Amino acid sequence: MNQETLAGQAKQCQSCKQEFTIEPEDFDFFERMEVPAPKICPECRFKKLAIWRNEMSLYSGKKCDLCGKNIVTMYNPKFPYKVYCYHCYFSDSWNAKDYAKDYDFSKSFLEQFKELLTKVPKKNTSIDAVTGPNINSEYANYAGGMKDCYMVFNGGVGEEIMYCRGIRESKETVDSYFGEHAEKCYECINILKSNGLVFARNTYDSMDSAFLINCSGLNNCFGCVNLKNKSYYFLNEPLSKEEYKTRTGEIMGSYSKMEEFKKKFAEFSIGFPRKENNNIKNVNSTGDFLSECKDVDNSFEVIGAENCKNLFSSRALHNSNGSIGFGTKSELFFNCVGSGQSSHVMCSCSVAGSRNISYSFGLVNCHDCMGCDSLKNSEYCILNKQYSEEEYKKLKEHIVEELTKQGLYGSMIPAELSPYAYNETIAHDNMPLSKEEALAQGFRWEDDVQITKGKETLKPQGIPDHIKDVNDSITKEILICIGCERNYKITEQELLFYKKMNLPIPRKCFFCRHQDRIKRRGPYKFWDRKCEHCGKDIKTNYSPERPEIVYCEECYQKEVY
Ligand SMILES: [Zn+2]
Ligand SMILES: [Zn+2]
Ligand SMILES: [Zn+2]
Ligand SMILES: [Zn+2]
Repeated sequence: MNQETLAGQAKQCQSCKQEFTIEPEDFDFFERMEVPAPKICPECRFKKLAIWRNEMSLYSGKKCDLCGKNIVTMYNPKFPYKVYCYHCYFSDSWNAKDYAKDYDFSKSFLEQFKELLTKVPKKNTSIDAVTGPNINSEYANYAGGMKDCYMVFNGGVGEEIMYCRGIRESKETVDSYFGEHAEKCYECINILKSNGLVFARNTYDSMDSAFLINCSGLNNCFGCVNLKNKSYYFLNEPLSKEEYKTRTGEIMGSYSKMEEFKKKFAEFSIGFPRKENNNIKNVNSTGDFLSECKDVDNSFEVIGAENCKNLFSSRALHNSNGSIGFGTKSELFFNCVGSGQSSHVMCSCSVAGSRNISYSFGLVNCHDCMGCDSLKNSEYCILNKQYSEEEYKKLKEHIVEELTKQGLYGSMIPAELSPYAYNETIAHDNMPLSKEEALAQGFRWEDDVQITKGKETLKPQGIPDHIKDVNDSITKEILICIGCERNYKITEQELLFYKKMNLPIPRKCFFCRHQDRIKRRGPYKFWDRKCEHCGKDIKTNYSPERPEIVYCEECYQKEVY
């Protein structure tokens, strides 16, 4: 290692021109993966990976191209792809090798890979191979083991979950983001082992409480911040049980009263110190929403990873750099999306149970494949064509050399090959761009996302303020979102939940509610700031101009909790 790599190398991002640093240990990883160091910054790399992950833009009104059954799909029907339902896709009634292409040395590898990607049938939604198929949960994507769920994304194992992302091992939970072991929770972000929470954030081991930030061990508390092991507290003050019931009873169930309290609580909570991050039980790690990680850097929503960088929503991944989703018992991932239970995978999507894979899409139980789509139980394939081990190695070498000459080897499959537009993917959720910016950065944009407008049969002012005055006929009405004017409906299952939990009918559509939660969660971006108590340098996703008082973890534990 030379002097320069020992100190870390400052580079200018070829895409956004921002400076970024490549650390000495990164070079060891790149050497091991036999790839050149990235020429773009982690943020630009995230966008180029996330463009391959459409979780929430689902399209109805299409049929499986094999069995003719109605399907919901993550592929925009405008595109020429054949789309198969889960059962057909994984059945033996078709073979992805029938789409094999002879290598054409007069064309570039990427051009040929693009042709293959458009021809091989795709599975309608992405179902987690580990947690298995979903039951009565058509609108689920990147989620497995779901029963009676609706609009659930990036989750696993749940019953009666609706409008959630990143919720696992949970029941009867609605409109929530990132959490485990939740039951009867609503509008929560980052919750753990809790029951009956409403508008709670970064809270665990709590029950029957509402409007909480950074709390634990609470029971019947309302509007509390940084509170632990208490019952019948209202705005951080104790109340008698009767008084508590009266005060909260005046608010719950009424749309106007809850909105009013939301504002009051925002003003109240701003005076309390926040922790620099929401990490739990980590060693030497930076990022947010990390738990049980060791030596993990610049990562978000990650559980149980070790010696990794630039992970987002991945679990149990080791020795990797750049991965979105899945993970699980994997190592040596470089620029991967939705891949897991695999090793040594680069620049690929939806790879499971495989090793030594590059530039591929949707492989299961394969090894040593390059430029392949939807293969199962295969080895030594390029563009879905079978080669001998020797022929494979020779042709792979040729492709690597070509990509290296083009300066593309090690970069994610180019965005123009992605089946999704920027605003259909989680790239837009986490690094929003305007249409003009997205196009300028080489991404596609979809003007025609499946949205219904102007069909409303009930205006917001026609919805009763209190849930007790809402009758069942509301499930027959078409509502209009006060945020974006999109039409939306209330399902019967949803209405039952609101009645049971004493919650008003939401006046915004799912997509606006989701965006509001992303805002409350905070951005996937870290700033250098100083602890407002001890002055120590911290890395936090509270940008310096934000009004919150931010403490380092040590001061927070000592002074607050
Ligand atoms: Zn950049
Ligand atoms: Zn089918
Ligand atoms: Zn809306
Ligand atoms: Zn401090």
